[in-house]
Amino acid sequence: MLLWFRNDIRTHDNPALDYFLAQRNGLLPSKAVFFVSEKQWLTHDWSTIKIDFIKRHVNALAQQLLAFNISLEVVHCDDFAEQISFLQHYCQQHNIMQVVANQELEVNETQRDKLCLEKGIPLCLFESDVIVAKGKVLNKTGEMYKVFTPYKRAWLTYVRQHGFDYLGKPNSVAATVLTEQESAKLMPLLVCTGESDLWPLAEQVEQQVIPEFYENKVASYGEKRDFPAIKATSGLSPYLAIGAISPRYLLLLFLQRFPDILVASDSPEFTWLNELIWREFYRNLLFHQPELSKHQCFNPKYRSIIWPNNHAHFNAWCEGKTGYPLVDAAMRQLNQTGWMHNRLRMVVASFLTKHLLIDWRWGEKYFMQRLIDGDLAANNGGWQWAASTGCDAQPYFRVFNPIRQSERFDPKGQFIRKYIPELAQLPDKEIHFPHVYLAKHNLKNYWPAIVDHKQARLAALDFYR
Ligand SMILES: Cc1cc2nc3c(=O)[nH]c(=O)nc-3n(C[C@H](O)[C@H](O)[C@H](O)COP(=O)(O)OP(=O)(O)OC[C@H]3O[C@@H](n4cnc5c(N)ncnc54)[C@H](O)[C@@H]3O)c2cc1C
Repeated sequence: MLLWFRNDIRTHDNPALDYFLAQRNGLLPSKAVFFVSEKQWLTHDWSTIKIDFIKRHVNALAQQLLAFNISLEVVHCDDFAEQISFLQHYCQQHNIMQVVANQELEVNETQRDKLCLEKGIPLCLFESDVIVAKGKVLNKTGEMYKVFTPYKRAWLTYVRQHGFDYLGKPNSVAATVLTEQESAKLMPLLVCTGESDLWPLAEQVEQQVIPEFYENKVASYGEKRDFPAIKATSGLSPYLAIGAISPRYLLLLFLQRFPDILVASDSPEFTWLNELIWREFYRNLLFHQPELSKHQCFNPKYRSIIWPNNHAHFNAWCEGKTGYPLVDAAMRQLNQTGWMHNRLRMVVASFLTKHLLIDWRWGEKYFMQRLIDGDLAANNGGWQWAASTGCDAQPYFRVFNPIRQSERFDPKGQFIRKYIPELAQLPDKEIHFPHVYLAKHNLKNYWPAIVDHKQARLAALDFYR
């Protein structure tokens, strides 16, 4: 048997690993493989910070696997075709009867797995990325829900009735388990750039960040989560995106702390669980509608849109030079840190698609190329929501006012001041749209606004109509 790690870089609650440990021949040393496929990753627009984050977790995984007498081999293959050739050859050479892995959702990945089977690779797949298996929560006609709220209700009913499969941490079997110091001395399998070092490894997050978030922050999450200057959200998206933390583990711990949460949808803590259910919603959407992986608008009505796509405006948006401080600060947060606050993702996505009338796919791609938590299902869902082309998207006539958003969610301009130091000295009232103030004081250290909000809004309404 061969164990194949992909988007499930963890030993905790990993169904493929669990099966592998139960089925393998006694305690004999065995092998697992992870493919580094940089060329393929590039075609999927994975950011360098996400790749670094993956590599750090693969190094940690290799050490954790020693406790199970499993040695992890990292194989460099340019693309999926090379992965298949490697596996074919390896299975023949070592008489492998089963290759065990967890499913990946995206269309190229599913096609690769299909091809593996067609080429005689004995691939056996499990599911590790969601709480409720995909395809289980369906409407009365047996189809995927097209609206989030009824999906959420059905999801909650399903979990109440059936529970969910949490496998826990497997017991180590190796005769001698390395101490932390010993394992730190081992050469890492993959060289990392350090780009993602500000994000601790998943193990530390499980021990410290999650318990602390549940204990101290989740109760005020609903009240504070929209304010980018406050660290009020969990910061778990990068770990969920690469499968370093199990969503089922998150729910298990959550239920231990809030046992009634599945029937308490009006409680403050539920607001956070609601987001995890959005994640499940978008993953199911991609599962039922794989064309979404191929850049298709969910809503057929919008598939023939011809977007004006002004290149200069797009560049200004990417570089954080639109002249709208909240939009610019958000884009600088993305460019400098590889992460962006959710409220800001909504604001900048709305600005790109509605104020600038630029194709949402340009923004989706730019996000993927920069985000540490780049995830096709959530990113596509978020962009199509903002562009009004998606499933349960915001209606086309809702156009976020970037000045009003700034006044509401960054009232004192703390977030703006952090990322746009040029504006640090401005009074709170002026910082959200500083152009009149700057002109009055003859200051020229900030960009003029590239569009006028009122005119852009009317143009967007007209365009969408
Ligand atoms: C335009 C746009 C693009 C986005 N791109 C991505 C992406 O590439 N990857 C990604 O993981 N999220 C994406 N999101 C969703 C959301 O912004 C991030 O998941 C969130 O900001 C991560 O911060 P957190 O971990 O502190 O989340 P918390 O607020 O603590 O939420 C907990 C978890 O729930 C999930 N979640 C939260 N909000 C959403 C949502 N709206 N949709 C789906 N899942 C959600 C995430 O896994 C998150 O870690 C996008 C949203 C928008 C509007």
